[in-house]
Amino acid sequence: MGLKMNYKEFNNALEELSRNYKIYAPINMNGKGRFSGTDVVGYGEINKIEDAVFGLKSYYSPKEIVFPIRQTLFYFGDDEVKEPKVDDKDTIILLRPCDINGIERLDSIFLHNGTYEDIYYKKLRDKVKFFMIECAEGFDTCFCVAMKANKTDNYSVGMRVKNGEIYLHIKDKDLEEVFGNLGDEVDFKPDFIEKNKIEVNVPDPEKLTIDIFEHEVWKEYDERCIACGRCNTSCITCSCFTMQDVFYDSNQKVGERRRAWTGCHVDGFTDMAGGHSFRQKNGARMRFKTLHKVSDFHKRFGCNMTVGCGRCDDVCPQYISLSKCINKLYDIVEGGPKNE
Ligand code: SF4
Ligand code: SF4
Repeated sequence: MGLKMNYKEFNNALEELSRNYKIYAPINMNGKGRFSGTDVVGYGEINKIEDAVFGLKSYYSPKEIVFPIRQTLFYFGDDEVKEPKVDDKDTIILLRPCDINGIERLDSIFLHNGTYEDIYYKKLRDKVKFFMIECAEGFDTCFCVAMKANKTDNYSVGMRVKNGEIYLHIKDKDLEEVFGNLGDEVDFKPDFIEKNKIEVNVPDPEKLTIDIFEHEVWKEYDERCIACGRCNTSCITCSCFTMQDVFYDSNQKVGERRRAWTGCHVDGFTDMAGGHSFRQKNGARMRFKTLHKVSDFHKRFGCNMTVGCGRCDDVCPQYISLSKCINKLYDIVEGGPKNE
């Protein structure tokens, strides 16, 4: 079903939906920017369409809605273990095609990677419906087309927000009932970006063999990367976490087990019993991340892990670019130079 409506009509639908759904969208986060007195776009709950930001890329991805930064897995006491309650409401997320593809990459890791599903991820993920924001122009650092993550039909509603009007392509029967008596019926399907501003050439993953480990290309990152982990935390597809048992002050036999985000760039990530630690040089961490994104994941799941949202390039304080690194790898293994 295709519909065109104004903000007021759309907000009426949001109000009705909010009885059963928490609705998340990219929003302006006041004063939370990198520099004092600046804002940043991240994900938060909205009540009306005017609260959503459509003209800027979100600095943080929507990943934290299905994979929270810190998540209590269970509470433990003397003789019992209890799982925390999950919000009764389901979840609607307004997001771009690359991020829908990104959440599908998380699904591969948490749900389709071996015998067991990650139940903590699944119980949040099962609640989600996607409202796909049309993205036909992209931003300076996007390379979703090269990653084949610029398109998807995995959405309940596709939406274009333009000149005070909202066009909707509604595929979900339950939502047709909510929107059906609003606006005018039109013939609408969202467009997708066909060409990004930057060109990224992806090397054949089979050619990224163990020989690339010792290549001098990684040396630059030894010095340049400061292991801050911003690239990991901003990434829609980075899914690594660490575990913490927190014991309460009031009774040291009672507490909770949490998992919390971590990432392959940060110190301590590979620490093991006995004082062992791998990938101590920051270049080795860059190598590990890059090869996971364009080689190892591809060999296991048949697509690149990175979706080309470009957030890691946007947030890196040292101006390290994953897309440029992928181009360097292409030139090395495919006999460049294609990327000067
Ligand atoms: S990577 Fe950029 S251009 Fe592609 S869908 Fe995401 S935001 Fe849009
Ligand atoms: S954001 Fe940049 S400096 Fe920080 S860990 Fe990632 S690559 Fe290194």
